[in-house]
Amino acid sequence: MTYQHSYAQSIADPARFWQNQADSLAWYRTPSVTLQTNADGTQRWFADGRLNSSYLALDRQIELGRGEQVALIYDSPVTGVTQRFTYSQLRDEVARLAGLLCELGVGKGDGVIIYMPMVPQAAMAMLACARIGAVHSVVFGGFAANELALRIDDARPALVLTASCGLEFDRVIEYKPLVDRALLLARHQPRHVVVLQRPQATAALEPGRDLDWEAAVAGAQSVAPVVLDAGDPLYIMYTSGTTGKPKGIVRENGGNAVALCYAMRHVYGMQAGDVWWGISDVGWVVGHSLIVYGPLMCGCTTVLYEGKPIRTPDAAAYWRIVEQYRVNGLFCAPTAMRAIRKEDPHGEGVRSHDLSSLRQLFLAGEKLDSATHEWLERVTGKPVHDHWWQTETGWPVTAPCVGLEGSAARPGSSNRAVPGYHVQVLDDEGRPVAANQQGAIVIALPLPPGCSQTLWGDHSRYVQAYLQRYPGYYHTGDGGYLDDEGFVYIMGRTDDVINVSGHRLSTGEMEDLVAQHPAVAECAVIGVHDEIKGQVPLALVVLKDGQGIGEQQVQAELVASVREQIGALACFQRVRVVKRLPKTRSGKILRAVLRKIADGQDYVPPSTLDDVAVLGEIEQVLAGLPRAG
Ligand code: AMP
Repeated sequence: MTYQHSYAQSIADPARFWQNQADSLAWYRTPSVTLQTNADGTQRWFADGRLNSSYLALDRQIELGRGEQVALIYDSPVTGVTQRFTYSQLRDEVARLAGLLCELGVGKGDGVIIYMPMVPQAAMAMLACARIGAVHSVVFGGFAANELALRIDDARPALVLTASCGLEFDRVIEYKPLVDRALLLARHQPRHVVVLQRPQATAALEPGRDLDWEAAVAGAQSVAPVVLDAGDPLYIMYTSGTTGKPKGIVRENGGNAVALCYAMRHVYGMQAGDVWWGISDVGWVVGHSLIVYGPLMCGCTTVLYEGKPIRTPDAAAYWRIVEQYRVNGLFCAPTAMRAIRKEDPHGEGVRSHDLSSLRQLFLAGEKLDSATHEWLERVTGKPVHDHWWQTETGWPVTAPCVGLEGSAARPGSSNRAVPGYHVQVLDDEGRPVAANQQGAIVIALPLPPGCSQTLWGDHSRYVQAYLQRYPGYYHTGDGGYLDDEGFVYIMGRTDDVINVSGHRLSTGEMEDLVAQHPAVAECAVIGVHDEIKGQVPLALVVLKDGQGIGEQQVQAELVASVREQIGALACFQRVRVVKRLPKTRSGKILRAVLRKIADGQDYVPPSTLDDVAVLGEIEQVLAGLPRAG
């Protein structure tokens, strides 16, 4: 099947195209209805289909003869541990853990928060929830207690699964005190907290509420997968929106399974028996799609890595893994490759390892800059592909489909739309623009299977955030253009979301925190260029008169506050005091202009600007910042 043919068919007759894909899945009941559209523009895929995602990822693979194949390789340079689980072993672990969840009263539709580091038990926890129809929500371990509490109050979990600690290089980060603090802050209280005690730290357990993971699982009975409807939620993944309240993206079982099986084979070119490495964290969407569900449902061996690109122990760590496990394909964020390149510009670490198993590398999470792209291709000698997607879509929107014939890749672009996605560019009035003209990147409805169709407990926010701006289209929040041949160029977010090391963060949320400082009169937080992380936040603050506090002190206090409330992953380190901020006559802060000044780009002072002189003042204050290359 060629890319052109698949793409044309997927747009002309989406129901037929996806029914064909769905037919290859082992449903308990094959769907007879493929696509239904609701009055508000959202879709229902495979409405009467019945399945179980844990069955597809484990039991089904064993039925197909993969019981003795390694399903999951755990490699942890930070603890010196490596472990392998065959499909049979992983299924047995998951079935027992699922049994424990049942014994603790967790059932279909109940929420479960998973706050865990990159250990195999995190993947087992997700699959155990899926097995019994509980809805998991993995919260990234780098989030502070306050962020965890927000998610607990939104997901209202019956249970929290956690570990005593995570490891950052050689630093032990205790998780349990964070969970305890989050539960003090949260209004909702789960019935139990199950704690995996790791040798690096022992967590104190609260009698009655907290359980020791190993002891509890040891006494549990295995359970079989339950039959679920295609539309039943598999998980909630929180992501930053433009306000402080995170959005609970909901992924459905049916669409997710069909989409991920399609993506693994046709986008990433993986087959059963291949070794796949999704370099990310279970706390992000990539961890769900490309560490756990995608590779396992496709019968691959998945690598779960508890380490960093550098300093665990060095910049050759990735290449060591590729050689050691004969990795055939990998996903990575550009920021990790930039960190490796900085330490090993000549690729000596690459040359000291055998990468012959590796067919290609896929990068996403932020734009792949051409310097990193060229370097990576040069040192590895492998094709390197930029591709673009979002937490909301759950799988690639644009990518070279290496599993389809005739699929070209174009360096500098995020490549062409994947079958199922009708990507277009619109102007402010919602009119399609010509090729090479910039505008808002949208996807014409219907969205393909796998894409989120609602937000947890807040459907109207979904409709308002994604479908109302351009009726008939899904609004991605990214700006960019398509060239004459349909290759997509993503220029960045058009809202107040920034991308730090491939992680989406809301500048609005940080502004809220900064504004709470007693000395701050007003502020703006913007994303500025960073050589390694892509973007980092910068706060411009106007101090109240007569505060007697200097820039150093206000910076130190604000840095501590953001670290405490959001977490170290925000990389919030820079604060500059300014006399005033550029505003429109109606008093709106002109953040777009601030971003341009901070990144040293040319700009035209907006006609709505209240007082042009303020721009000169800001330029002076920001003169010392590193510039985009
Ligand atoms: P997340 O939902 O955290 O995965 O972030 C999704 C956002 O990251 C997108 O809306 C883009 O702004 C950005 N992004 C992801 N991949 C790319 C890419 N290949 N090129 C440019 N931006 C990207």
